[in-house]
Amino acid sequence: MLNVIDRYAKEHHYKIHPTKTEIIDCSKRKSSYSWTMGGKVVKTSDCSEHLGIKRTDGKEHNFNIKERIQTARRTKYALMGSGVHEKLPKRDIWKEEIKEKVNQYWNAQLKSEARNKTSLKNMNIENLEIGKTAQVWNLQNQPRLELRKAIIKARMMTGAYILQSDKHKFTHFVAEPLCQLCNTENEDIIHMVTSCPVLSTIREKYYVEMKMEILDNIDPIKWNTFCCNKMEITQLILDCNNFKETLNISSELMTKIEEKCRNLLFQLHAKRIEVLDALNNK
Ligand SMILES: [Zn+2]
Repeated sequence: MLNVIDRYAKEHHYKIHPTKTEIIDCSKRKSSYSWTMGGKVVKTSDCSEHLGIKRTDGKEHNFNIKERIQTARRTKYALMGSGVHEKLPKRDIWKEEIKEKVNQYWNAQLKSEARNKTSLKNMNIENLEIGKTAQVWNLQNQPRLELRKAIIKARMMTGAYILQSDKHKFTHFVAEPLCQLCNTENEDIIHMVTSCPVLSTIREKYYVEMKMEILDNIDPIKWNTFCCNKMEITQLILDCNNFKETLNISSELMTKIEEKCRNLLFQLHAKRIEVLDALNNK
């Protein structure tokens, strides 16, 4: 048998290691037979390791499982922080700690990826947190319509709401970027939210409501300083977290502004769709 292996190895141009090769005698009555392969003596042994697994003449499974468990214990111990060794924390504390570390890791990943996405430029990335509901989805006890509004808002704030200028880019400049509603400017999110004259009636009505909510609670000087151009106003409407610090907005006020902005964007969207449908059905 050994000579067959040796011949096969020669035919296929590989070598069987002369000293690493060992024979394990699995018979009940151990013999003192001298094994040879290609004329060389192959030593016999009770236990040998092959591909990291111990091979013995019996019960090798028990042996390997025991060894694997020992390795796992050592690995787990090595992964613990040095302060944890002396006394293991209770299960719930341990779970909480692991959850926190995992969230920390994914938070960093999420933010670093999000910072490189131009489609997310109107969104406050620093405020995102794994395990915490994003403000746009904070809709506890809200009617179903509010969820529909939030979906539109989320699409707009993440650049997934397709406007004419996006179609222009996606069709490799085949589609016109010009706003189909007013034909005066390219239709991007700033145009839709702050400028399109066709949407002005809707905009004025709901924008004033939102602005009043802010000015009732915040110093107008701050408003005029930090929210004075179309881009800043768009960013505020899309994600009021962008101005949480500069305008010093409380959490309670934030919820109210979010609701007003959600409504404003939804009304603009509804009017836009209505006008576009009317144009397409002409
Ligand atoms: Zn327009």
